[in-house]
Amino acid sequence: MKRIIYIPFDHLHAKFGALKGANPKEDVIVLVESARMVTGDDWNKVRLYFLISSARHFAEELKGAGFQTKYIKAPTTIDGLKVAQLEFGGIPIVSAEPSSHRQYKALQEFGVTFVENDFFLTSRKLFSQWAGSQKSFLMESFYRVQRIRLGILVEGNKPIGGQWNFDKENRLPPPKNYTYPDYLEHKADEIDKAVANELGISPISDWATTRKGAKAQLKNFIDNHFASFGPYEDAMTTENWALHHSLLSPYINNGLLHPSEVIDAAVAKFETGDIPIACMEGFIRQVIGWREYVNGMYWFLGPDYKENNQLGSSRKLLPLFDDASKTEMNCLKVTVNDIHTRAWVHHIPRLMILSNLALLTGVNPQEFLDWMRREFIDASDWVMVPNVIGMGVHADGGLMMTKPYVAGGSYISRMSNYCKSCKYDPKLRVGESACPFTTLYWDFLDRNLEVFKGNHRMAQQFAGLKRLSDLPELKIRAQEVLSGFENGTI
Ligand code: SF4
Repeated sequence: MKRIIYIPFDHLHAKFGALKGANPKEDVIVLVESARMVTGDDWNKVRLYFLISSARHFAEELKGAGFQTKYIKAPTTIDGLKVAQLEFGGIPIVSAEPSSHRQYKALQEFGVTFVENDFFLTSRKLFSQWAGSQKSFLMESFYRVQRIRLGILVEGNKPIGGQWNFDKENRLPPPKNYTYPDYLEHKADEIDKAVANELGISPISDWATTRKGAKAQLKNFIDNHFASFGPYEDAMTTENWALHHSLLSPYINNGLLHPSEVIDAAVAKFETGDIPIACMEGFIRQVIGWREYVNGMYWFLGPDYKENNQLGSSRKLLPLFDDASKTEMNCLKVTVNDIHTRAWVHHIPRLMILSNLALLTGVNPQEFLDWMRREFIDASDWVMVPNVIGMGVHADGGLMMTKPYVAGGSYISRMSNYCKSCKYDPKLRVGESACPFTTLYWDFLDRNLEVFKGNHRMAQQFAGLKRLSDLPELKIRAQEVLSGFENGTI
């Protein structure tokens, strides 16, 4: 054997990364299940189940394709690679560029040679050229460049449908008296059962752990959900945990699907004429826009970016994040329970419930970031660092987003059915029945008036603050709410 090809658990695709052009006669494939990854933190077990079972299935597939494949359990990735090198006589190790600064450094110091990471549609170099030419890093500008560069939903330099953005059409509340398609269930095999058993849980039918299952999920989205995805993409409901979301991010992020495969399927379906343009635009914005932008920013901004805490937030993580019984707020109970059940909720609960809460209560950004990393099935450093530090809790002082994403209970009330069965009232800002989000929203604006008063995008919000006649009372209620969160009684 001439080379060891090291496959991280998020590079599980035979045609991309270091496996592109691999030769079973010369290359031995190594995957390492590190104890650090499994027991190094209080990881959500659904997340571990998905990542580990997918990697073990992939190792078996490579064996089936004729590759000598080693699946090594070791304390750390580097320990695993040392075992492999010992067995194969110190031959060079090749890997695609890993997806975190920490792993990049560790592998580089160990002497691993990298090939370009092509699990994205935009190389790190290309993104950095774009970012380096910008005064501000607006996702919308990047996205338009992507549309033109990739030739998706454009005619020349012009957007098909006459506009770049259909967000306004894609903000409907959950529909009433509505029937959702059945969930696609994935049957556990022997590998799944063994992994679940090791983790002390039952196999999870919500997630596939093979490429075949991931492709079935893609087909299910294209056939049954795509045409209704757009209007309800921001809606939240207790009636259905997935609505019309694709549920593809775990597979795109661990390599079982490549983003180009997802885009090709979406384009082919759109070309049949069955998909409204707002659905198509909303979906490709997520895949060729947000996903690529977030990864690009992660590498462009460098390893120190995650330490940002420009608002000086120092509160410890609230008990309700780990235990939904520590809150009476229905929106949070539902969201946290959903995360503990299947390690996933869509982008709006992530942004407008969880991050909104962390920002309004002043939870330390790094503690919140670590929690998001631990809990979500599709979380990696590259996903969570920009999404949390930049977008979620505005800890970077506005480097990524022009204003903080904060909202009171009225937004959640409009976009979900959560408030109907909640003991709090989204319209009230003072008193014991006041929605904690509503109280803290105004308190946040008041506390941060000096920081944001020059931000013209927040002028309307501050004009609203000025009109409040009960601010002194509200400030007292805000203190009660904040200590109630710490005691788990709100
Ligand atoms: Fe959440 Fe407030 Fe609505 Fe209750 S009233 S569900 S706390 S937004």
